[in-house]
Amino acid sequence: MAQRRHPPGARQRARAARGVRAGADVTLGEPWSRGVSRSAEGDVRVAGVSVHELAAQHGTPAYVLDEADLRSRASGYRRAFEAAFAEIGAGVDVYYAGKAFLSLAVARWVHDEGLRVDTATGGELAIALRAGVPGPHIGLHGNNKSDDEIVTALEAGVGRIIVDSLVEIERVADLAGARGLVAPVMVRVTTGVHAGGHEYISTAHEDQKFGLSVAGGADSPAMAALRRAVERPELHLLGIHSHIGSQILDPSGFEVAARVVLTLRAELAERTGVLVDEVDLGGGYGIAYLPGEVALDPDRIAKDVAASVQASSADLGTPLPRFSIEPGRAIVGPAGLTLYTVGTVKPVRIDDGRVRTYVSVDGGMSDNIRPALYGAQYHAELVGRVSQVEPVLARVVGKHCESGDIVVHEVQLPGDVRAGDLLAVAATGAYGRSMASNYNQVPRPPVVAVTDGRARVLLRRETVDDLLALDQG
Ligand SMILES: *Cc1c(COP(=O)(O)O)cnc(C)c1O
Repeated sequence: MAQRRHPPGARQRARAARGVRAGADVTLGEPWSRGVSRSAEGDVRVAGVSVHELAAQHGTPAYVLDEADLRSRASGYRRAFEAAFAEIGAGVDVYYAGKAFLSLAVARWVHDEGLRVDTATGGELAIALRAGVPGPHIGLHGNNKSDDEIVTALEAGVGRIIVDSLVEIERVADLAGARGLVAPVMVRVTTGVHAGGHEYISTAHEDQKFGLSVAGGADSPAMAALRRAVERPELHLLGIHSHIGSQILDPSGFEVAARVVLTLRAELAERTGVLVDEVDLGGGYGIAYLPGEVALDPDRIAKDVAASVQASSADLGTPLPRFSIEPGRAIVGPAGLTLYTVGTVKPVRIDDGRVRTYVSVDGGMSDNIRPALYGAQYHAELVGRVSQVEPVLARVVGKHCESGDIVVHEVQLPGDVRAGDLLAVAATGAYGRSMASNYNQVPRPPVVAVTDGRARVLLRRETVDDLLALDQG
């Protein structure tokens, strides 16, 4: 992801073969997907398909997913971690965190690229299974799994159930035992390391719903859970799991958390004689949302984490386990953009006499809740034409009945931005469609994949009939 320009290759050749002038397009670079380019005439293309064509064929708003970009990020993470961990003599598996965005095609793409799939609910599990991902290549998470979800996972032969509490250890063991099965489990622990944005913080105690705390050493909830999992014969304790946060740009949090987990593993071995085989370091690899932001580079982070776990294991005198990681956002986030049509444009006088131009689009918080939920920042550009008009301070807002219905807080847009313009918001592939709602009874937008000059619908647009179909009068 340090790479900003798409290397010339199959896509350019395909474009040349279709008679599109090679060399005329300029790749936009981060935070856009690698297939996003602007032609000399000013319209933007995604993997060779013009935004005008996408809007005409599929309507707006629409999520547009660049398949080649997504695949290359998936294989990029896998290769980077395999290479770095091979250097230290350890194996590693990469699980795609399906909650970031999951559909049948995306599950197949990431599996094709050698990733496994993490799910957190029965719905995500059903999609991964329907896509043909083999059970052993699927993980099931969740802090409050239902019996149905656990049974479905057991019957599908999932590779791992990540247990999140003492009661769940008993429940999974009971449900497996009743079926004559042995459940492969990992215990999710909280290391006191929390990361997100540019910083990480480390605290001894945990005040959140996930996992079991390592605080308290031999008497910690994490140790009690691990010992219980060892005791129950209906469970096979694969290892220890830790996920420290999301959108992490400072790699040191991963290293500190890994050391805590490896220490716990050594302590468990000392107390029970069981040295577990696996350690999962979770997801959270940060991406660029704004121009100038720099994503975590998978090669760099893989090397740093590998060196750090090697040093920790040497200090502890324990052999290295097999590792796994669970990137979601870093695989699908940069591969997606949202295409909107501009409607109402309204200049509003704000403090100190400045004017802010409110640019309303035909979607909003129902297709991207992250700005309202987390104050997340995004970048938008006019993509259907070029304008020589001086830029103005703009705020991109949606069509919902909330003043917090903001898509982009602050962005410079050409002063002649007007109804009918096409506007794209970058890096919406993760936690966009997957967190979308029907607020204001707005049908959710389609997800359209583009690959080498062709677009196809992965998820169709919802219709008002879909909404009415649920209503029993
Ligand atoms: C959310 C989550 C992930 C993925 O996080 P990203 O920020 O999308 O990489 C991985 N593992 C667990 C347990 C999660 O909850």
